[in-house]
Formats: sequence, C-alpha cells, structure tokens
Amino acid sequence: MFTLLNVAQPDTLEAAYNILKEKRSNAVLGGCAYLRMGSQTIHTGVDLSKLGLKYSKDYGSYIEIGAMTSLRDVETNAAVNNYADGLLPKAVANIIGVQFRNVVTVGASVFMRYGFSDFLTALLALDTEVELVKGGRMTLAAFLDTPRSKDILTKIIIHKTKGHAAYQALRNSASDYPLLTVAVSQLDGEWKIAVGARPTRARLAVQAAALLRDGDNDMTAEVMEQAAQTAVGELSFGDNSRASAVYRQAVAKTLIKRAIAEVVACK
Ligand SMILES: Cc1cc2nc3c(=O)[nH]c(=O)nc-3n(C[C@H](O)[C@H](O)[C@H](O)COP(=O)(O)OP(=O)(O)OC[C@H]3O[C@@H](n4cnc5c(N)ncnc54)[C@H](O)[C@@H]3O)c2cc1C
Repeated sequence: MFTLLNVAQPDTLEAAYNILKEKRSNAVLGGCAYLRMGSQTIHTGVDLSKLGLKYSKDYGSYIEIGAMTSLRDVETNAAVNNYADGLLPKAVANIIGVQFRNVVTVGASVFMRYGFSDFLTALLALDTEVELVKGGRMTLAAFLDTPRSKDILTKIIIHKTKGHAAYQALRNSASDYPLLTVAVSQLDGEWKIAVGARPTRARLAVQAAALLRDGDNDMTAEVMEQAAQTAVGELSFGDNSRASAVYRQAVAKTLIKRAIAEVVACK
C-alpha cells in the first residue's frame, strides 16, 4: 500500500501542475487502484476532483472524455456505445468487474501507457487525441512514443470518423490481465490494426493495415491471413509470466484475423 503524506485539491489545472512539479515524489491521484498496489511514499497527492474532469461529452463530430471519468462511465455512455460498434465498452468490459471499473480513471489508464491495457489498444485503433497540461494536444500514437514526464492528462478526444471496429483479447482466466489485445478498425476507408499486451504497450501494425487497404474490394481469407502474418512480423513480441513470445505470436495471428473478419461483416 502506498503512503500519502499530504493531499492537495487545487482549483485550477495550472495550480495542480505546479504542485505536481514541486517535488519528485508528488503524484496525481486517479482512482488509486494501481497506486494501491505499490509501496511508494507520496509527499503530496494531487487530487483532481475539483477540476470538473469527470465527464463524457458528445460534440457531434467528436467525443471528449475527462481524465477523472471512470472506465465504467465510458462503458455505459450512450455516445461511446453508439460509436464504432461500441469498441470501447467491449474493450473495457473484461477489466476485473463493475465495482473496479467504477473506480479506475481514464486519465491514469491512458497516461501510464500500461502494456497490458485493453483501453489503450482500443483507443489506438480509433482517431484519438490526448490533451496534457504541459505537453498540449497530440495524437495518441504520438503520445505513446513520447517518454513519460511529469504532466497531467486532462482529457481524451475521440473523433467520430465513420466506420467499424472490432475488439479481441485473450486472458488465461477471467479478470486476469490480458496476454494479448487486438483492435481493428476501418474508419473513413483507412484500416488500423492495434496490438497490445505483447507484453509491451499497444502499437499499430502499419504494413499489415496497408495490405488490407490494397485488398479492400476483395477481402478474401488469404488477404486476412497475409495481413495477420505481416502484423506479427512487423511487431515485437516478448515473454512474461502469462505467455511466451511464440504463443503470443500465434494468438495474435488468430485474433487479428477474427477482428478483421468482424469488421468486414459489420460493413
Ligand atoms: C489489479 C489490477 C488489474 C488490472 N487489470 C487490467 C486489465 O485487465 N486491463 C486493463 O486495461 N487495465 C487493467 N488495470 C489497469 C486499470 O484499468 C487502470 O488503468 C489503473 O488502475 C489506473 O487507474 P487508476 O485510476 O486506479 O490510477 P491511479 O492508481 O490513481 O494512478 C496510477 C498512476 O497514474 C497517475 N495518474 C493518475 N491520473 C493521472 C492523470 N490524469 N494524469 C497523469 N497521471 C495520472 C498516478 O499519479 C499514478 O502514477 C488493472 C489494474 C489493477 C490495479
């Protein structure tokens, strides 16, 4: 369990960021589910709950989700459910249980770039941007490539580009971390294949997605097989206690093919 020496509840984002910067051991508090698993001593915990960051808003062409919104709020939000075949609700539905998802927050889930993240994998297959106090706004893909520094993620923005999406993941047992996550989308004609829990964080298989674009008018089982094989070749896979790299590669091939077939069927 972590130790919290002080808690600050700033009224502005600027004040929150200034407190965060003051000491190396100061940290933002999300739902504290992940912090609870560690043993760090936090000098000042920055509680964002006075900053109005717990919301999901549909602006027509995009959906904005505040950092303090819970994964359960995301799962039950009508606009999120109605977009991209409910990709996000499907992705988070197997994270432990409802009570847990009522606590854990969007901000921490995205900012921490967890390798095992179901949520990140799904967001990466969508047209997603993130906004940070210091780092400003950038695409999720660009954010995932930046090294972690002291900052506060304030919101995510999901552009409602027209299309379909599918989610697949495999766990050794229900409520365990996934050993592989896959999200495939075709938005505005563009295919995206995101693969996470390799066990490193989600990445896009760009060459594989290009093959799908080429085969778009004739999406045969062979094209899907080739795309899945290419994705496995262009991404790296590793071992951990949940699965070996070789097993992950085999699972990835199957899950990618299933997800592509699902998107094709939705069209
Ligand atoms: C036991 C367990 C099992 C899990 N299983 C899964 C799973 O199967 N699939 C999956 O996708 N996820 C899983 N997760 C991750 C979970 O979904 C959340 O992503 C995670 O708990 C972080 O959310 P939190 O609100 O609890 O963060 P916290 O514990 O509050 O914070 C975690 C870290 O994020 C920082 N932080 C918090 N908010 C912000 C912010 N707005 N900006 C910048 N930094 C911030 C904190 O300072 C801290 O360093 C699991 C977590 C746990 C504890």
